[in-house]
Amino acid sequence: MSEQSLSLSHLEQTEDFIRRHIGPSEAETADMLAAVGAESLDDLMQQTVPGSIRLPEPMNVGKAVTEAEALANLKQVAKKNKLFRSHIGMGYSDVHVPNVILRNVLENPGWYTAYTPYQPEIAQGRLEALLNFQQLTIDLTGLELASASLLDEATAAAEAMALAKRVSKNKKCNTYFIADNVHPQTIDVVCARAEMFGFEVEIAAAEKAVDGDYFGALLQYPGTTGEITDISNLIAAVQSNKGIVAVAADIMSLVLLKAPGELGADVVLGSAQRFGVPMGYGGPHAAFFATSDKHKRSLPGRIIGVSKDTRGRPALRMALQTREQHIRREKANSNICTAQVLLANMASFYAVYHGPEGLKTIANRIHRFADIFAQGLTDKGFTLRNCTWFDTVSVNVSEEQKASIIANALNAGINLRTDVEGMLGVSFDETTTRSHVAELFNVFCGENHGLEVGALDARIVSQGSNSIPEELKRTTDILTHEVFNQYHSETEMLRYIKSLENKDLALNHSMISLGSCTMKLNATAEMIPVTWPEFGGIHPFAPVDQAQGYQEMINELSDWLIEITGYDNLCMQPNSGAQGEYAGLIAIQKYHQSRGDAHRDICLIPSSAHGTNPASANMVGLKVVVVDCDKNGNIDMADLKAKAEEVSENLSCIMVTYPSTHGVYEETIKEICDIVHQHGGQVYMDGANMNAQVGITSPGLIGSDVSHLNLHKTFCIPHGGGGPGMGPIGVKSHLAPFLPDHKVINVVEGNQNNGAVSAAPWGSASILPISYMYIQMMGSEGLKKATEVAMLNANYIAKRLTGHFDVLYRGRNDRVAHECIIDLRPLKEASGVTEMDVAKRLNDYGFHAPTMSFPVAGTLMIEPTESEAKAELDRFCDAMISIREEIAKVESGEWDATDNPLHNAPHTLADICDADWNRSYDRQLAAYPAEAVARNKFWPTVNRIDDVYGDRNLVCSCPSVDSYREE
Ligand SMILES: *Cc1c(COP(=O)(O)O)cnc(C)c1O
Repeated sequence: MSEQSLSLSHLEQTEDFIRRHIGPSEAETADMLAAVGAESLDDLMQQTVPGSIRLPEPMNVGKAVTEAEALANLKQVAKKNKLFRSHIGMGYSDVHVPNVILRNVLENPGWYTAYTPYQPEIAQGRLEALLNFQQLTIDLTGLELASASLLDEATAAAEAMALAKRVSKNKKCNTYFIADNVHPQTIDVVCARAEMFGFEVEIAAAEKAVDGDYFGALLQYPGTTGEITDISNLIAAVQSNKGIVAVAADIMSLVLLKAPGELGADVVLGSAQRFGVPMGYGGPHAAFFATSDKHKRSLPGRIIGVSKDTRGRPALRMALQTREQHIRREKANSNICTAQVLLANMASFYAVYHGPEGLKTIANRIHRFADIFAQGLTDKGFTLRNCTWFDTVSVNVSEEQKASIIANALNAGINLRTDVEGMLGVSFDETTTRSHVAELFNVFCGENHGLEVGALDARIVSQGSNSIPEELKRTTDILTHEVFNQYHSETEMLRYIKSLENKDLALNHSMISLGSCTMKLNATAEMIPVTWPEFGGIHPFAPVDQAQGYQEMINELSDWLIEITGYDNLCMQPNSGAQGEYAGLIAIQKYHQSRGDAHRDICLIPSSAHGTNPASANMVGLKVVVVDCDKNGNIDMADLKAKAEEVSENLSCIMVTYPSTHGVYEETIKEICDIVHQHGGQVYMDGANMNAQVGITSPGLIGSDVSHLNLHKTFCIPHGGGGPGMGPIGVKSHLAPFLPDHKVINVVEGNQNNGAVSAAPWGSASILPISYMYIQMMGSEGLKKATEVAMLNANYIAKRLTGHFDVLYRGRNDRVAHECIIDLRPLKEASGVTEMDVAKRLNDYGFHAPTMSFPVAGTLMIEPTESEAKAELDRFCDAMISIREEIAKVESGEWDATDNPLHNAPHTLADICDADWNRSYDRQLAAYPAEAVARNKFWPTVNRIDDVYGDRNLVCSCPSVDSYREE
């Protein structure tokens, strides 16, 4: 065909995003369809998806637009955000993201497309960065043990309350104390959590903590309005009554202040946002959480620990509670799965880059500006509410004064803290300059006030400042470990970041076929808006009229997600899938309560469920009753009916994943919903597998009442090495009155008593542009096609592996959905080769292992997603088949049971270069087991890691350099 004879739409083809997102070309799709025995994608759908649940009308989210158009559209929306300078404080501060971190971490797919480091041999980079985060937390909090990030300060405080209940020896007591100078959003989240746990809460002035009987208490340091008080007596008093004290602290203030651990706190937590992570209208940011060694088994979230590999070298891995929900189910410490790894890593790099001296300079400058501002206002006759502070000065004002000062501030493009009666709050941060303080003087005192920043500064220098009480000044060193003291030039920093990145296998190297995790393309065009200042620079509590761009984007995205899910309403607050489960279950329980059914407290959960399901159910006071699966992996209908019957009166809900975690579309899903509804229960459909539903069916159509969506699975937010994520929930209208709201910023008219589930009103708002861009660029047809190709890819893999491995479960016409489970148990039985050996051997072939032993022990669950092209699927299948042949050699006795490349996998350069190589197989086979590997070799940087040793000898801080040298 000549160019002239082509229509314009053909000539515009290169602009089409859909074919960039979807891996297989049209020709490859045809080949694969032929291979699996389907005539077309539609035919494959007919064969795979039960007809009764297919959408009667096509889903409509509009037509696809090109990358360029989508970016231009979103830029127009973003420009509606007004970037005021924020002095609001309340746990969120403006920052200078070091550019070397911005570009090489936040904007770098080597960091943001990695998964949670479940395969530590190919994840030593982010594990080291997280260990640094734990060390930083330990140093600043003065406690012994830290976790590798929680979701936000408010939920971390709620986790501290749950920890207190678990470990407090004051067993009979059911009341938790919260100081009234804790940030209001934290109080909101903790109270909502307490209500569901059935705890009483007492909120009063911090000093009152000594009076009552509490299983625990939450204090803020410095207080939300800025004051720094010696809380050591309060802590001791609560503890003498067997209460556990948590202190929410400002991370930057801790650089200058005595560590809460030294004041006696049992738990110290807070947000690490102001260590170099943009405010982003509320998130994502990492929370830090530290406690003492004796509570190590009660710590929520993940901990990175130091262990050793088979060569005896120090090596890092997730310790103790790795996948703890999957093992401990409803007895897990918390439901946290996806956390905030990328942001924790940014914060730890910020500390590495600035080092202890740099941080002290930054903290001192912030504090100096607060001193100058306070001095100036005092000179002008204002009275201050606090006489001690780190960065926040609260000014007493009459209502009249308040209104005019706010008006002045808004005129000058400045936001102050305004939510407390008779007071205005002013917080300073690392971006504050002299002229900003001068502007604030104008705002408070009008022009011609005669105050001069330089003169005030000189006065403070000569008089000295006592705004930090002498006894609360830090006297201990921080960040003495070498890692915080050697990368302070940009060149050194750049190379340090790169050296860690090189150790990690992310999506920019090869397919990561983790079942249930949907590791699809995170397109660059989707990521670009995340770091636009219009999205990064907004405080979550800025007046809503300044965030019209955000509001428009959130509303439009909500509308699309409502259309996609078939629900009536959507709540954007939960900042992970597990938080969505929690919010959805609260809505269900409040709904029951509203109908006089408060006694309904049984949650049915199939045995195949993800561990977060029972863990979340436990958080809202539900009792879990497990429903069996039959031999085909489907929910055992007889068991379901019997159990629903048995608990009928008390049935709250079922939590069911669809397609099931076994990777099939259960035919009976509608019947399952009906049975539960007949007994007065509600249906929670876990939306983690939405990538097999979009455009084909929907939870609303099937008959579910509420679902979370993991935007970091189906809707392209990258996994960030273990977070961030977003877990908005869709609900049918009868549950809408029970969705979370927010005490500081009203989200839904009429819901404000429902409490919040996240610190920020719209969760991690600044990553929503990713999903927004995705839906825009795919349009209705592209999204549907993505689902179809995801299924084609999974069926293609199932087809290619059949005969080599057993595919454990299949649905109608022997089809799998978007993922498939292969059963390694028979092979293990016959050869002794374990699923772990296969997982590690895949590393030698350049691949990340699929999901191991979930939902069935001894299996691998493979989810290729639509983004992988046929060539990559083939490379993966070739590797699996080659590994199967290796297993056969062990099975037949041709290879020794332990002296073989499976048992010794993964192989490192240290192995290959070892002069004493004395294995029965050669080095070539060890490291270059297939031709394709040689072209793009990925080297695991440590050998297989000893988990048992690591848990027995728990070390969660940076090892001294000597420990590396000794080996
Ligand atoms: C990922 C997942 C979850 C948990 O979601 P997070 O975002 O990690 O909290 C829950 N259920 C299933 C089936 C999942 O795959």
